[in-house]
Amino acid sequence: MPTAAFTTLGCKVNQYETQKILERFEALGFDIVPFDVPADVYVINTCSVTQSAEAKSRQTVRRAARQNPNAVVVMTGCYAQFTLRRGETLDEAHLVVPNPDKMRTADYLLEHFPHFKAQLAQKRHNTETPIRRRSRAVLKIQDGCNVYCSFCSIPYTRPVMRSTPYTEVLDEARAMVQDGYRELVLTGVLIGDYGPETGSGGPDLAELCALLGEIDGLERIRISSIEPTLVTDRLIDLIATHPKMCPHLHIPLQSGDTGVLQAMNRPYDQAFYLDLIRRLRARIPNCAISTDIMVGFPGEDEAAFQNTCFVVEQVEFCRAHLFRYSPRPDTPAETMRQQVPDPVKAERMQRLQHISKAAAQRYAARMLGTVERVLVETRSKLSGLMTGTSDRYLQVEFAAPNSLVGQIIPVRLVDLTPDGVLGELTTA
Ligand code: SF4
Repeated sequence: MPTAAFTTLGCKVNQYETQKILERFEALGFDIVPFDVPADVYVINTCSVTQSAEAKSRQTVRRAARQNPNAVVVMTGCYAQFTLRRGETLDEAHLVVPNPDKMRTADYLLEHFPHFKAQLAQKRHNTETPIRRRSRAVLKIQDGCNVYCSFCSIPYTRPVMRSTPYTEVLDEARAMVQDGYRELVLTGVLIGDYGPETGSGGPDLAELCALLGEIDGLERIRISSIEPTLVTDRLIDLIATHPKMCPHLHIPLQSGDTGVLQAMNRPYDQAFYLDLIRRLRARIPNCAISTDIMVGFPGEDEAAFQNTCFVVEQVEFCRAHLFRYSPRPDTPAETMRQQVPDPVKAERMQRLQHISKAAAQRYAARMLGTVERVLVETRSKLSGLMTGTSDRYLQVEFAAPNSLVGQIIPVRLVDLTPDGVLGELTTA
C-alpha cells in the first residue's frame, strides 16, 4: 500500500495544517510512516519566515528525494508559495501545492499522479479507526493577519481574517479528546483577534476557552502565541481561575526597544510590554512567558539591542525563540536603510542566547520544590528518563514507566538540567 510521510517547518499554524493534511491522506488509505524512512510520498509543509527557514525548507525537500529517489516529493506552505510567485523551481520537488490550497494536497497528488488512485482502490481502509499520535493536539481557530509588521510577509499571503465558528471548534476539540488527546494548543495567525466580527458566531477568545473547558476528558488548554496588545483582562482572569488553562502565554516581543518596535510597525512599546507582564504575574503567580525575538532588525544599534537584553533579563522568559532578521521579499523592511551587517547580527545572537538561557534558568530555578502537572510524552534517548511538558511549559525529565505516556501527572521539580528541570513523581 502507498506510504506517505510528513514534516513541518515553522509555526504552530503549519503544524496544525500538516496534521489536517495527514488526516486526509490517512482517510484516503495511505499508510503514514515517519519522515526519516523510505516512503512513496513525502509532504513538506515549508516556511519562509527567514532566509534560514527557506534554506531548511529546501534542504528538507532534497533530503526526502535522497531518501527514496522513486518517491513523489510534495512541497506546500509559505516557501512553496514564494517559489510559485517568483517563478522559481526546485528540481527535487515533483509537485508544488499553492499555500491557499494546501488542505487539498492529497487531491492535487491524486490528480497529478493517478497511479496512487489505483493502489488505494485495492486497499480497504477503515476511516473510523482513531489513531492516537500525540498527547497534545494543535487546534487552529483563526486565520489571517492585518497587523502588517514591516518585516513580515504573512499579511500578504493570509490577508483574510477568519475565525472558525465556535461550534466547529468545539466539535473538533471533542473529536480530538475522543482520539485520546489530553491537551489542546489553540493556534492561529492572530489568535487574539478571534471573535464575532470575523466569524466566531459569538464568543471571543476568552469565552471560547471557557466553552472548551467544559469538555469532559480535556485536561489542559494552552494558547500558542498571542500578540501583546490582544491579551485582554478577561483572558488573564480566565487563566488565573480556570483549572484547565495553562499558566503560560507565548507573547512575541520581537524587540525590547521602542524605536525598533515602531520601525517594525508593532503596536506597543517597551513600557507596555513590561506592564503587561507585571499585570499577568500579579494575577497569575509565576506565569510562564515564552517569546519570539528578532535580532538585527534595520536600525538596531547597540543601545537598542541592550534594551532587548534588558527586557529579557526583566521578564525571565521560560523559553525564547531567537531569530536573526533577514529581509523578506516585498516587505517594507526589505528596503530600509541601516541594515545590520551579518557578523554583527551573529555576535548579538550569541550574546542574547547566553542572556536568555541564564534568564530561563533563573525562572526554572524559582519553580524548584513546586509540583507541576506534566504531560508525559516520550523517553529521552540520552538520559533514559521520561520527558514531558509542564503546565508552565517547562521540559521535565523524571523516572517513570512507559505506561504513563499520554497522561498528565503531578511531578515535583527537584533540580535543573541543561535544558529544563529534573523531577520526581509525587502524589501531591
Ligand atoms: S502580527 Fe506581525 S509578525 Fe505576526 S503574522 Fe501578523 S504581521 Fe506577521
